[in-house]
Amino acid sequence: MIQELHAQLIDKKISATDLINQYFQTIQNKDSQIKAFLTLTKDNALKQARIVDERIQSGKTIGLLEGIPFASKDNILTKDIKTTAGSKILENYLAVYDAFVIKKLKKAGAILLGKTNMDEFAMGSSTENSAFFPTKNPVDLQRVPGGSSGGSAAAVASKMVPFALGSDTGGSIRQPASFCGVVGFKPTYGAVSRSGLIAMSSSLDVIGPLTSSVADARIVFQAIQGKDKLDATSFDLSSDSNKNSSLESGLTIGIIPDYLKEGIDPEVKNIFQKIIDLLQKKGIKVKNINVPYSKYALPCYYIIMPAEVSTNLARYDSIRYGKVTNLDSEATTLKDLYFKTRGVGFGKEVRRRLILGTYVLSKGYYDAYYKKAQRVRRLIYKEWQQKFKEVDFVIMPTTPTPAFKLGSKTQDPLAMYLSDIFTVVANIAGGPAINLRAGNTSKGLPVGLQILGKHYSDYSLLDFAEQVENLISL
Ligand code: GLN
Repeated sequence: MIQELHAQLIDKKISATDLINQYFQTIQNKDSQIKAFLTLTKDNALKQARIVDERIQSGKTIGLLEGIPFASKDNILTKDIKTTAGSKILENYLAVYDAFVIKKLKKAGAILLGKTNMDEFAMGSSTENSAFFPTKNPVDLQRVPGGSSGGSAAAVASKMVPFALGSDTGGSIRQPASFCGVVGFKPTYGAVSRSGLIAMSSSLDVIGPLTSSVADARIVFQAIQGKDKLDATSFDLSSDSNKNSSLESGLTIGIIPDYLKEGIDPEVKNIFQKIIDLLQKKGIKVKNINVPYSKYALPCYYIIMPAEVSTNLARYDSIRYGKVTNLDSEATTLKDLYFKTRGVGFGKEVRRRLILGTYVLSKGYYDAYYKKAQRVRRLIYKEWQQKFKEVDFVIMPTTPTPAFKLGSKTQDPLAMYLSDIFTVVANIAGGPAINLRAGNTSKGLPVGLQILGKHYSDYSLLDFAEQVENLISL
């Protein structure tokens, strides 16, 4: 889609200004129902579009992303624009600088249309934990769009933007992409700088694109990828694949039979089986693999993630990043101030994780929980390193069920956590993973296919995913 929009711009079939106006028109028509956006940045967007138009008019060559509209999840800092992370505690916070990814996209000429709704501080799988309102799934308004990047996924699925940025700590790009039927790519940890991303769990967080095709995911990834001196874990990835990932080159794909045994919707399983058949027909070897330690990925995630959350969120005291209530004036001690402001500023799920996190880090429990979880994480990492010596990629459903109904899991946090059962493992192990639309259920709900690759194989994973995408749509 980005290529086509670019062609229209350079062929002068449409001006950047008209393009931006058209997208805002779609937002106006659809977003009162879908509610994907928290903030719109129309004036800024039109200003930038005029600059692009002038450049086109004066015969300058424009870049592929120049004049292309996009949206960003609201936990990514955008200078002088509200950045709330879906939380009341940041309700009035104007970011003071642009995140690395925003700087990169601005430099490439892409135009921000607005900030998208999300679960508070990216904690959730349905966008119902937003402090403001839930976002609806554009395919079926009774259902959730997934989360936590639900606003971004819904905005792309309903064509309110050609692409959006999300963040993925345990599945927050891939799971909503799967629920909304779009492409969602989680790069290798560190391939995209976290500078300017409001931290949830720093050893797991990564920013990535939500798009309508793999080709677009590659374009956006290429633009945001790279070493940043403000994120010591970031690195440059060369764009040439380290291996031939063409379907004809004798690839071996791993599947994990254990993952398909229980708790999986029969229609999801069926669609997944059809993909396996398609690949086999193409002459691809499909190999059963076992990853016994990985069944502990979800429990391990729910120890490490809250531990990091509890330290990362300590900075929100309603003083440094904007005032939440007037209760602070009534506080008599510092502790009292924290109780009053954090008790009101943070929602239930965030508070739950803060309590869990401080618990697993506390004296006497640190060794039993946190340290042990770190060891298990290492074993999972090694297990996958080993498996990727036997297979080129691994495929599995992205989620065990299609999008669920709004309100159906809000009272049951464990049921909500289980919707990440297939996605967290890529965060714990650290490698790249992508969601593609694999098919629809009988009710027309999208079902996703997840493809995982080894560390640093991002570009070959994208190459392979693009071929699978073509195969599915044939
Ligand atoms: N849904 C998962 C959680 O609630 C993942 C969140 C994420 O990736 N940001 O933690």
